[in-house]
Amino acid sequence: MHLKIGVDLDGTVADNLPLLTDTLNTYCGKKLRCEDINQYDLCGIYGISEADFFSLMGTKEEEIISRCPLIPQAREYVEFLMRDGYQVHIITARHPGYKQITERWLKDNGVPYSGLHLLNSHHKLDTCRKLGVSLMIEDNVHNAIQLEQGGVKTILFTAPHNRLWPWNGLRCRTWQDIYRTLQEILHSSLAATP
Ligand SMILES: [Mg+2]
Repeated sequence: MHLKIGVDLDGTVADNLPLLTDTLNTYCGKKLRCEDINQYDLCGIYGISEADFFSLMGTKEEEIISRCPLIPQAREYVEFLMRDGYQVHIITARHPGYKQITERWLKDNGVPYSGLHLLNSHHKLDTCRKLGVSLMIEDNVHNAIQLEQGGVKTILFTAPHNRLWPWNGLRCRTWQDIYRTLQEILHSSLAATP
């Protein structure tokens, strides 16, 4: 069964939160830890306007994208998924202007993938439908809710900013959990096939 899986990038494969927090701490003169980021809205957390946030990202985002490390085990388990015959589509809200630098980061970090889609938007449902992605791995709880409501089964990857948010779907804390959960979903859908 060649299931197509969508995988978010930032916060799911690329561990950008520590660098993002450092950058905002410096800019705002605060000392928040990653654990303190309890919602996705960083402007709300830091008390800055969206205009200031985007202006700051205009000068710092490229550096964050280039320097951020991998989420532990992400590369290994994406490799396992592809070895198992899944197509893995990386679907990210990053701006398409970051395509080259993103491709370089994925190559340098040895992350394999079937397709890379930079949407400049958190609305991922249309892309999932167009690609035939039936399952998504995502750390943004708002995206996850939208995807599930649109019929794309979503595994929420636990992060400080989604820990306290209500979510009735699947939730995983590690890539090992994600892999195990995917096996269970696959086996139960095969078992349900007449
Ligand atoms: Mg993300």
